[in-house]
Amino acid sequence: MTTMTRIHNFNAGPAALPLPVLQRAQAELLEYNAQGMSVMEMSHRGKAFEAIVNDAIANIRALMGISDDYAVLFLQGGASLQFATIPMNLRRPGEVADYVDTGSWASKAIKEGKIQGETNVIWSGKAENYTRAPRPEELAFTPGAAYVHICSNETIGGIRWPVFPKTEAPLIADMSSEIMSRVIDVNRFGMIYAGAQKNIGPSGLALVIMRKDLIARTPDTVPIFLRYDTHAEENSLYNTPNTWGIYFVKLVTDYMLEQGGVPEFQKRNEAKAAALYDVLDSSAFWKPHAAKDSRSIMNVTWRLPNEELEAQFAGEAKKAGLEGLKGHRSVGGLRASIYNAVSMEDVQALVAFMKEFERKNG
Ligand code: PMP
Repeated sequence: MTTMTRIHNFNAGPAALPLPVLQRAQAELLEYNAQGMSVMEMSHRGKAFEAIVNDAIANIRALMGISDDYAVLFLQGGASLQFATIPMNLRRPGEVADYVDTGSWASKAIKEGKIQGETNVIWSGKAENYTRAPRPEELAFTPGAAYVHICSNETIGGIRWPVFPKTEAPLIADMSSEIMSRVIDVNRFGMIYAGAQKNIGPSGLALVIMRKDLIARTPDTVPIFLRYDTHAEENSLYNTPNTWGIYFVKLVTDYMLEQGGVPEFQKRNEAKAAALYDVLDSSAFWKPHAAKDSRSIMNVTWRLPNEELEAQFAGEAKKAGLEGLKGHRSVGGLRASIYNAVSMEDVQALVAFMKEFERKNG
């Protein structure tokens, strides 16, 4: 028999999943709930799978306090397809959409927005190397805009919005890398969306939370599959969905509810992030990327005095069982993604490694 070694997983996504969830999936793999088959083998139109979808949605509604004014959808194409379908569905011909450029992911959404129509970038952090979110007084919205799009947490830069802007137009947020990591008021948003593969499940699935009146806005010219109303009317079962992914979201959200819900995870996440930022603030050896007021509690990013040391850090960390610390290939540096499933023990192992690395190389 081989022994199992699970590393400290700081991957940015796909990322760590809670061990009890993996164990439950393992226990249910060959036969789910007396069905004589696994979830992957059952019809998406059967009662057993329908119950899984509905339970997952009920869990998400409970965890995030989502009212009946919103639909909860599971869509394919990741968060990236949302970049394209948002302007298609929500900006009618002749309308303008406002976007805020906080980094790599906001920029990708902007690119898709520009392909299809008038896209106003009302603020960009590019000149400051994407180190912060804008302050409320820096935002001048376009009167009559169809919507305002933000990325609430930039996975690559490691910055987040400390407070969300107040907008006349519906506010749309890409929350891929922070969904259910902190308490938010869903009623402030027209739409929230997230790729599942960081905080709530495996990849290949996007969660969409959308105000029902916005679902009705889609122009007739939008293809059937790319319309939100298609999927809302069919409870995300218009075509064969990612059944395994939805099942996993149900397991993760069951677990989150058992553990005390989003407030409990927010508390844990803030403590984990504080432990890392304390090291990054402790000496000039560490060069944290994000401005203090915009620091992400999910993706912690920093540089070292030179790139050789950064490579050495990531290499030695990997040997010590700390995985996924290399920064994104587009920006370099180092990054620890500390999603909900990453424990304080994982973070403490990283803190100890960082202190030792500084002692030897600082
Ligand atoms: N938005 C953010 C903030 C992300 O971090 C990512 C993926 N890392 C995406 C969008 C794209 O998600 P997907 O790969 O699921 O399309």
